[in-house]
Amino acid sequence: MAPGATSGAALGSRCEAIRSGARSAQPTDPGDLLFYVNRWAAIPSNFPVSSTSIWTPCDPGDPGTAHDLVCMPASYTYRGREALREVAFESDAPAEPATTFDGLPIGHHGKVGFKAMLDAARDDGHLLLVRSAFRSYAMQSATFSMWVAQEVASGRSREFALKKVSASSARAGHSEHQLGTTADLVFRTPQGTIYDGWDAEKMEASAPIQWVMKNAHRFGIVLTYDKDRVHVTQYVGEPWHYRFVGVTAANAMKECDLSTEEYLQARYGTGPLPPFEPHMSRSARR
Ligand SMILES: [Zn+2]
Repeated sequence: MAPGATSGAALGSRCEAIRSGARSAQPTDPGDLLFYVNRWAAIPSNFPVSSTSIWTPCDPGDPGTAHDLVCMPASYTYRGREALREVAFESDAPAEPATTFDGLPIGHHGKVGFKAMLDAARDDGHLLLVRSAFRSYAMQSATFSMWVAQEVASGRSREFALKKVSASSARAGHSEHQLGTTADLVFRTPQGTIYDGWDAEKMEASAPIQWVMKNAHRFGIVLTYDKDRVHVTQYVGEPWHYRFVGVTAANAMKECDLSTEEYLQARYGTGPLPPFEPHMSRSARR
């Protein structure tokens, strides 16, 4: 056996221990990397500060602590077609924000993990950018309402719109984005444009996202909503949405083929989520 390799039996028993081993107490601090949040478990509305908006300017020089929001620099982020920063990728020149946009607020740990991963992806020829990182309770509330309003504007009943949006967008208090360790990604296509749509199949088939799915665990990052685990997570597949959980947990999830929800259910002994039957269309968004 090569040095560092794990035998199948050893791995099997380690995974079994994770699945059925000693339970840990659920952290009450949302700053804990393994804080348990989902459709049912919530984050306190004042974490870390209730008034911060996603567009609040952040200070690129702030080193931060686990509970602080810091700045994901503009060269790693994407705010729409007006702010393409492909030039920064093409040359060795320092990234130059086109506007006064300084980047996106993100938690300290999230910044460290995502920055390292995006750097490694660039080294391998893939341009990935963060389109959305930290969201406050208020911002998540506004985000959910915006998607519902969009469905209603396209002629859906409000009841249908709520069901459809609930399949893919979290209610305020229930979004991993409120932790500051989570980011939605966009990527550069072979044609050189940035893909910023919400087509899950198209995104998952792309080389940059394939790279992330293969390598994210090395940076302590995991895919939260796997299209093959809809019955577990109760959300449609979201190949753009990733959470930093630390390298130990990410490696364990990868090795043992556990989603974040399954890993945390085992860790805290919470068991499967209560039934939820939204409109689980594969073409739903967010
Ligand atoms: Zn997301």
